[in-house]
This record gives sequence, structure tokens and C-alpha cells, in this order.
Amino acid sequence: MYQNDLADTTPCKSDGNDNVTVSVDAAWQRRGSGRSYDSLTGHCSMIGSKTGKVINYKWRSKACRICQRAEISGNIPRVHKCNKNFTGSAKAMEPDMVVDMVKESRSKGANITAIIGDEDTTTIARLRAKVDPTIVKLSDSNHIEKTH
Ligand SMILES: [Zn+2]
Repeated sequence: MYQNDLADTTPCKSDGNDNVTVSVDAAWQRRGSGRSYDSLTGHCSMIGSKTGKVINYKWRSKACRICQRAEISGNIPRVHKCNKNFTGSAKAMEPDMVVDMVKESRSKGANITAIIGDEDTTTIARLRAKVDPTIVKLSDSNHIEKTH
């Protein structure tokens, strides 16, 4: 008995898709109480290394003006579209955003196999744990990793 349809095992249609290398670039808005290094908002874009096009974009915010105003005046905030979508530390924003973007892009069929980023290893560790243990990290200064 032959089964000629194994499509169920491959939810992502990867036929004909090259492996995709993306570069990620996160930035934080710093807000100045001087001694606080903890940013309230951060954003991150994901760029295809071949196309140079932004293929995904995320932002995280630990603050919402409406919530803040209510807090200051001691009121319960009115029902609103809250800007707050993150509760970790500012440093944890980048891995969170990148994991999100890689998951999304992969679900749309982009076979992302390598990430170009800064020297921080938190993001790639999270990606390997949450998305794919075989994802490769390339450093900014050296886009081509030696084959292993
Ligand atoms: Zn809010």
C-alpha cells in the first residue's frame, strides 16, 4: 500500500523556495529620566538579505498614555485600544519581536534559515528554542559563515 500524499507533514510549501537569510535590526526609544536605561518602546524590522526589502516589522511597548494618565490620576482607565503589548524588560523585546517575525514569515512560506544580527546571542537562542534549532546566526561583520 502506497501513500503518495505526504502533504500533511509539510505545512509550509517550500518547493522552489530558496533558503532565506534575513537581517534584523532593532531599535529602542530612550526616554530620559537620566538614570533609567530601560526603554519603554522598541521596534524591529526584518530585511531580506537578497532583496533588501523589509519583509516584516514589529514593535513593542511597555507603556500606554491612556493607562499612564489613569494611573497618575488614580482612576481606572476607560476602555481603549491599549498600546501596551509587552511586559518584560526592554532587552527582552528584540528576541520576542524576532521570534514573532520569523514564525510569521515561515508560516507564509518564507524558509528563513539564517539571521544576520548584532553580537547579542539572546535572539538566536530564543529562535532555536522556539522556532527551529537549526537556524544559523550570521554576524553583521561577516555575512558568510564558514560551512560547518
Ligand atoms: Zn492602555
